[in-house]
Amino acid sequence: MHELPVVEDLIKQLDEESAERDIRRISSVELVIGELSSVVDEAVQMYFDLLSEGHSCEGARLKFRFVPSRLKCTSCGEEFEHEKAFACPRCGAPAKLIKGSGREFYIKSFHTEEEAHEQGKGD
Ligand SMILES: [Zn+2]
Repeated sequence: MHELPVVEDLIKQLDEESAERDIRRISSVELVIGELSSVVDEAVQMYFDLLSEGHSCEGARLKFRFVPSRLKCTSCGEEFEHEKAFACPRCGAPAKLIKGSGREFYIKSFHTEEEAHEQGKGD
């Protein structure tokens, strides 16, 4: 259930951006979610639909971009994206998770209704 405060914060950020940039309506929002962040996209969308009512981002479509965590080799210092192994692709030594990596949750970008009309998409 921790998506609730996450979504409240998300809407607050979008409200602030809208006020600052004089945006009336946000039509879509692209979010980055780290693979270890245990945030469930469906729950985010559900809370967003409930809580965005009356805000500039009401009814906006959410797009989720999942990003892998990043590891750093304990031997040579090589940094790489986590796929299957925790071993360094360069020297084979064990690697450690980079602090905070994989737990991202932030707004990558958002689009406004005005932009959508300019581009002739109209959704
Ligand atoms: Zn290495």
